[in-house]
Amino acid sequence: MKEEEYYKILLDTFGQEIQFQCAIEEMGELLQAICKYKRKLATGDKQKIEKALENLQEEIADVAINIGQLSYMFGQDKINEIKQYKLDRALKRAEKKNMEEN
Ligand SMILES: [Mg+2]
Repeated sequence: MKEEEYYKILLDTFGQEIQFQCAIEEMGELLQAICKYKRKLATGDKQKIEKALENLQEEIADVAINIGQLSYMFGQDKINEIKQYKLDRALKRAEKKNMEEN
């Protein structure tokens, strides 16, 4: 099944408001996971770091799904166009920085 088909089914089944709420909640979970991973990295404890990494990966996947859902809802093509523009702009900034440092 294509990703868009999942998003259509989820939107048709649960509605826009639930999609907004899920995105907000998952973004909060990702923020927490990033903070926790950074905190565990500082401990140097490999077991704790691995556990925090697994949690971080799960939360990134959750938010990636939410971003896919929001993009489906608000115009995939336009969002991809903006995304490409911003990636190109960031690349130019990185190239400029690298030239300045070398
Ligand atoms: Mg989550």
